[in-house]
Amino acid sequence: MLDAAFQYSGVYLTGQILYLILYVTSRCNSRCKMCFSWRGMEERRKCSPALSLEEIDKITQHSPAVGQLTLSGGEPFLRDDLPEICQLFYKNTHTRFFTIPTNCLLPEKFEVIVSSFYKRCHNGYLNFCLPIDGVGTLHDEIRGVKGNFEKLIESIKVIQQMQHVHKRLTFNLNTVLSKYNKNAIREIIDYAISNYPDIPYGFALVRGDTRLEDAKVLPESAYNEACEYYRSKYRHNPIRKAPYSMVQKGIVRMVQDKVSKSITNASGVFRCRAGDRMLVIYENGDVSPCEILGNRLYNNANVTSATLGNLRDSSYNLKGILKSGKAKLVLEHIRNTGCSCTWECAIFNSLISNPISLTKIIAKGVLSKTGHR
Ligand code: SF4
Repeated sequence: MLDAAFQYSGVYLTGQILYLILYVTSRCNSRCKMCFSWRGMEERRKCSPALSLEEIDKITQHSPAVGQLTLSGGEPFLRDDLPEICQLFYKNTHTRFFTIPTNCLLPEKFEVIVSSFYKRCHNGYLNFCLPIDGVGTLHDEIRGVKGNFEKLIESIKVIQQMQHVHKRLTFNLNTVLSKYNKNAIREIIDYAISNYPDIPYGFALVRGDTRLEDAKVLPESAYNEACEYYRSKYRHNPIRKAPYSMVQKGIVRMVQDKVSKSITNASGVFRCRAGDRMLVIYENGDVSPCEILGNRLYNNANVTSATLGNLRDSSYNLKGILKSGKAKLVLEHIRNTGCSCTWECAIFNSLISNPISLTKIIAKGVLSKTGHR
C-alpha cells in the first residue's frame, strides 16, 4: 500500500492527472438502452481503428503521471491486451490504481486478465466495476442480452475466488438509474446490500446521448428518493466498520448532493477540473476533458468542439496537447461558464482535487457517522 499511496500522493501534489479514462475499443456485445456512448463509438469505428498497444506505449512515454486509470469502451474484455496496457501505465506514468468496467458477458476471461495483471503490475490495485441494472430479467432487458444477470453472478463468484490469492483485487457494483429501473431501484439496493454487504455499491444517474431517447425520462425526484433510500440502508451497513468508511461516506454524500443540484443547474454547482485533473482518451486518439462537453458545445461561437487534439496527429504527445492553444481555450470555457453536470466521476475527481473540499468530505463523513446528517 505504501508504494501506491506514495505514487498517488505524488500525482496529487504535483497537479498531474488524477483520473484518466482510456477507451480501448468501440466494440460491444451488449445493447444497453441507456448507453451514453453508442453514437460516438459507431462514428469513430467507421473512421479509424482503436489505438494499438504500440501506440499506447508511445502515449504513456509522453504523458504526465496518472493517479488512476479506467479502461473503458465498448466492452474492454473484447480486447486481449488489457494487462499489457495496464503495465505500460504502471511503468511509464506511475499508475497504481486500475479500474476495468465490464458487462460480465465473458466471465471466463477474468482469470487470465487478473493473473497476467499481477505478474506485470506487482503493487497495482485492480478493481472491476460490475453493472447491476435490475434483479434477474430486468437486468437482461435493460442491457439487451438474455442471461446477462446469471453471468453477473457467475463473474462475482469468479472474482471472489481469486480474491483469496490476490489481496489487492476488488470489485464494486453499480446501477445506472434510468426510466427503465426507477421503480426497481429499492429492490436493486436491497439485493446488493443483502447479498454483498461488504462490497461497495452505488448508482449513477443516466446521462448523455442515450441509445433510446426516453432513457432519461424520469421525474426529478427519482434521484433524490433513491439517495434517501440508499442512505437509510447504508446507515446500518457493516462496510462502515472499515477504517476508510468515514471518508467513503463523506464522498458519496457530497457527490450525491452535487448531482442533485446539477439536475436543474448546468453551471456553478462545482468547479469542474475536467481537462486539467481528469481526462478522456478515445480509442481513435482524440483527447477530451470529459464524455459530455462535446454535446453541449454545438452553436458555441468560441469553442465548437471539446476535442483538445488527436494523439495520432500529434506524435502521441499528450503533454503537448495539454499545453496547446486549443486546450487552453476549452479549459477557459469550462472555467468561465462554471460548467456543471451530473457525471459522478467528474464531480468526485473535481472535489478531491481541492484540499478544502477534501477536508469538507472527511467532515461530512464524520458527521454522518455520528448521526448528524
Ligand atoms: S461539468 Fe461535466 S460537461 Fe462540464 S466539463 Fe465537467 S464533466 Fe464535462
